[in-house]
Amino acid sequence: MISAILRRNRVSLAELAHRFAMPLKDFVREFEYVRKGLPHDQVLRFEHPYCRRCGFVFKEKHRVKAPTKCPKCRSESIEPAVYWIEPRSR
Ligand SMILES: [Zn+2]
Repeated sequence: MISAILRRNRVSLAELAHRFAMPLKDFVREFEYVRKGLPHDQVLRFEHPYCRRCGFVFKEKHRVKAPTKCPKCRSESIEPAVYWIEPRSR
């Protein structure tokens, strides 16, 4: 179960797709169902991708395709966005 994993770990979409042996494109659709089907007392959170070298944060919203290059320092070492599920605080 995707949501069960997300309750225990912070994971990137590519990592999850790999885990379920699905092409990323198909997995993203599956992921949308999970997001929309979440119980009201739970919320999907995420952290933006960032550059491992200079710390630049990619703030574009929910882009499926991970950025490959840092616009600031040109490094290609990018930490992908990670997702997880938390109980809603109120
Ligand atoms: Zn950078």
